[in-house]
Amino acid sequence: MTVTETFDIHSPTTGGLVGSFPVLGVDAVEEVVAHARGAGRWWAGLGFRERSRRLRRWAADIAAHEIELAQLIALETGKPLPDAVLEVALTLDHLAWAGRNASRVLGKRRVSRTILTANQSASLRYEPFGVVGVIGPWNYPVFTPMGSIAYALAAGNAVVFKPSEFTTATGAWLVESFARVVPEHPVLQQVSGRGGTGAALCRSGVDKVSFTGSTTTGARVMATCAESLTPVVLELGGKDALIVDVDADVSAAADAAAFGGVSNAGQSCTAVERVFVVAERYDQFVAELSAILRNLTPGSQDGASYGPMTMPSQVEVVRRHVDAALADGGRAVVGGPESVGDRLIGPILLTDVPPGNIAATEETFGPTIVVTKVRDLDQAIELANSTPFGLAASVFGKRRAQEAAERLRVGMVSINSWVMYAGVPALSWGGVGSSGFGRIHGADGLREFARSKAITRQQFKAPISLTSFSRAKRATDIVVRYDRLRHRR
Ligand code: NDP
Repeated sequence: MTVTETFDIHSPTTGGLVGSFPVLGVDAVEEVVAHARGAGRWWAGLGFRERSRRLRRWAADIAAHEIELAQLIALETGKPLPDAVLEVALTLDHLAWAGRNASRVLGKRRVSRTILTANQSASLRYEPFGVVGVIGPWNYPVFTPMGSIAYALAAGNAVVFKPSEFTTATGAWLVESFARVVPEHPVLQQVSGRGGTGAALCRSGVDKVSFTGSTTTGARVMATCAESLTPVVLELGGKDALIVDVDADVSAAADAAAFGGVSNAGQSCTAVERVFVVAERYDQFVAELSAILRNLTPGSQDGASYGPMTMPSQVEVVRRHVDAALADGGRAVVGGPESVGDRLIGPILLTDVPPGNIAATEETFGPTIVVTKVRDLDQAIELANSTPFGLAASVFGKRRAQEAAERLRVGMVSINSWVMYAGVPALSWGGVGSSGFGRIHGADGLREFARSKAITRQQFKAPISLTSFSRAKRATDIVVRYDRLRHRR
């Protein structure tokens, strides 16, 4: 493999060099995918039971080195170690679940027939695609791509992973760990590089691409994949809402909004970026949330509440949104433009932001929260549903919380908590609208990485053949009589 260019990764916290990696071009990516093809056939041939055993051993290997992996995540992203440990812990549960449940979800099963097909036995099975390309972001460099990698592997595919250029060392760690439990063939490989390497992966002949990242890049990936009709799963950005109803535990809601809004410096796809609070609870909520935010200690020191922005260019996006909100009549109740530093951004709580302002409509991806007073739950739902995004939401309340969850136009909702759906592997993960389509996690996530195959087998000759040029005229009469009986009202 000829590689002419490399790139360096520097830690956002220490500024030190984490590692240097090659930028893989078109030929190099195609070479990796060609190796993956043979490895995929071997892996698929192992069957569900052996793959499950290997994935269990992989989980054991990661668990045995959990702190080492978490330290690397923390170094590359700048997030505090406890957050990185939580990310790995959630990932392990998914890995175990995917391995354990693949056979049940994807294994061969018989399905029922109708009277017209009573002489057939019918069965459905799911086959792996072959090679799946996974393109991941940097904000949760283990949890996010593993939502595709673990499920694609459990379904019997080989995986070629393109991590973000900011978290390539973490990706390399995962590949090395996997190779310790599957040393025979390169079933999981990494291609390092920048956006161009991701585009090369889309064009490399992989059988499916699972992309997690921004909505803009997701559209580009889909266009590239369309050139070769390569199917895609797109897990994109969000502008998630948290709703506080009249019978909510306001303190719990403020606590969840603070953590959901500014942990990981707000760089979570499911970050709480908008909060809608019914008028009766508004003042109490803003006071409690402000108190929590004012007590946070962002930075790179031990015990910091959250770290610096991972990607320098994101700082300008946050600054632009805060400035736009204030210029449009918004108020900074906690922090303000002065909180936006070079790399570190203090928590910012904005109120009175008009609904059409970019701070309320576009993904900020920083430690800012826009809180809006609403008349009632119905108005909260209407405003929450008013952006093109639709990833996830949280609802705090009792009597009407379930109803609100059902009316929200999103793929995931947690009631009286933030993001808890992420920790239940049996639940699917994915959004609607500008937040993407397709599902990872759970049974739907396994099926996303397999194609169904339908098989019928004739068990005996039908008394009346319907699919033959020699069919009798009375066959049609019988069908018409049957249809009338079967579908009468
Ligand atoms: P980007 O869209 O910038 O990048 C995502 C990945 O795509 C990176 O590996 C990137 O490489 C690669 N890439 C860039 N250009 C191309 C291209 N033309 N073709 C193929 N691949 C390309 O997202 P971020 O990394 O900045 O991640 C943040 C975004 O991810 C946020 O919008 C967030 O909401 C979203 N996200 C969504 C999640 C979900 O589940 N819905 C979960 C986590 C994050 P490189 O970095 O090297 O440029």
